[in-house]
Amino acid sequence: MFENENERIMADYDLLIIGGGINGTAIARDAAGRGLKVLLCERDDLANHTSSSSTKLIHGGLRYLEYYEFKLVRHALIEREVLLRAAPHIIWPMRFVLPYDKGLRPKWMLRAGLFLYDSLGGREKLPGTKTVKLNKPPHQGVLESRLTQGFEYSDCWVEDARLVVLNALDAANRGADIRTRTEVLSIEADGSGYKAEIKTNGTTATVTAKGCINSAGPWVDEVLKKIQRTKNDKSVRLVKGSHIVTKRLFEGDHAYIFQNADNRIIFAIPYERDYTLIGTTDKPYDPSEGKVKISQEEIDYLCGAASEYFENDITPEDVTWTYSGVRPLYDDKSEDASAVTRDYVLELDEFTKDAPFMSIYGGKITTSRKLAEHVMEQLHPFYDYKKKGWTETAGLPGGDIADADFDAFYEKMRKRYRAMEAKVLLRLCHGYGTRVTLILGDGDTAPELGQHFGQGLYEAEARYLINHEWATSADDIIWRRTKLGVHLSTSEKDAFTEWFNSLNS
Ligand SMILES: Cc1cc2nc3c(=O)[nH]c(=O)nc-3n(C[C@H](O)[C@H](O)[C@H](O)COP(=O)(O)OP(=O)(O)OC[C@H]3O[C@@H](n4cnc5c(N)ncnc54)[C@H](O)[C@@H]3O)c2cc1C
Repeated sequence: MFENENERIMADYDLLIIGGGINGTAIARDAAGRGLKVLLCERDDLANHTSSSSTKLIHGGLRYLEYYEFKLVRHALIEREVLLRAAPHIIWPMRFVLPYDKGLRPKWMLRAGLFLYDSLGGREKLPGTKTVKLNKPPHQGVLESRLTQGFEYSDCWVEDARLVVLNALDAANRGADIRTRTEVLSIEADGSGYKAEIKTNGTTATVTAKGCINSAGPWVDEVLKKIQRTKNDKSVRLVKGSHIVTKRLFEGDHAYIFQNADNRIIFAIPYERDYTLIGTTDKPYDPSEGKVKISQEEIDYLCGAASEYFENDITPEDVTWTYSGVRPLYDDKSEDASAVTRDYVLELDEFTKDAPFMSIYGGKITTSRKLAEHVMEQLHPFYDYKKKGWTETAGLPGGDIADADFDAFYEKMRKRYRAMEAKVLLRLCHGYGTRVTLILGDGDTAPELGQHFGQGLYEAEARYLINHEWATSADDIIWRRTKLGVHLSTSEKDAFTEWFNSLNS
């Protein structure tokens, strides 16, 4: 494997992390903050896969109560306010309206479930559950007239791909080496640690590390097989989830959660100001299907499920965009894909004595910080660092907003950059928090932002993303660092891509 004697050993690390999704970057952040020398390799872009394809909720997961996943729900509920404090620009509270529908779960059950949900995880800022009348504005005329009563409860929204990047940024600020477009080709146990061959843009190199984290998401078993070649059994259960996006279906900042006759639930959530996000499905996924994408059956299912509740039917013609992701769940042998545990499982191997190799299964965006903390607790015997966690009270880059009060912060920015279009400024403040000054500069009320590519995307933002946030392609910017891809026309996207590519020529 490492026959080429001329290959250079680039560096020796304490920890090599494979995969730059939410789990890999959260672990990189925690480990770097404890003083470990960390290398994170992501073969595509940060959050290129599952971590940008979620429903984007920081939530306890109301429906997991039905599977008695009380520990998962409790941990996740507690994380809501921890993450809200850490990054109030990309995470915000959201109210969810759950209609009561005759013939489905009875009212007492919904009430009991929501009571448990309100009480399980310490809630300080988020308001509790209340009953709502659905035959009154803003629900009247939006929902079917048979729906007259429901409940309203709290969870949070997160810009998922940005949370990944903020973890990576914080890790890098604490000394981690973050490399995107860098694939780990092979790994082998090597005396007192591991030796890996990595490839960036066609150039291979060799690195060594005392320990390894396999946070390759859907590819976790594939990476494990690189070192444990005899491994044949599958530990990961791949479950596809898809979303559809339509033009905005209702006014207001609240979301809806609908129960389906098949016992599943789906969400309808305000998305990117002008749209509604509807999801998700739960379908077994076989990698031989190739690129993960929504099927016609899933589109029909989501349109049908939403039409059961919305006054105006939603048809496939209303769908303006879709996305799909694969949940890398731990295979607990459940028959039903919806019933497979969403909790994470950490599998620790020592392929060479005293050198940890940990594989991560499952997990949620919501529990990623906690997962990283658990990983570091388990790795403690192998390293010399403080066992106590530090991330619970630490902010993420741009999240140092006074009292985590985003509205007050935005008002301050409005006064400062008076001449800027409010819509553009609001998006930038949400995206970058206090780091927005790195794009807008310190002084002018009407900053010089360079070329405009449409929909408020200016050269200044693109250059910031290239220089500070590992953006190396136009798609990194329009689909992950921002979601402007949803708004830009085809010709605007083409013009931006042309500009981006011209930077390297
Ligand atoms: C449809 C759907 C909805 C969801 N909704 C929610 C939600 O609302 N809230 C919530 O909390 N959670 C949600 N989740 C769960 C959450 O999104 C996932 O648990 C999480 O994103 C998994 O992150 P990850 O880091 O394990 O995997 P990924 O994000 O897939 O990252 C793994 C990375 O490893 C890289 N990689 C693989 N092999 C190599 C290699 N050899 N070398 C280098 N890099 C490699 C890949 O390129 C990939 O980027 C949802 C998931 C899905 C699918």
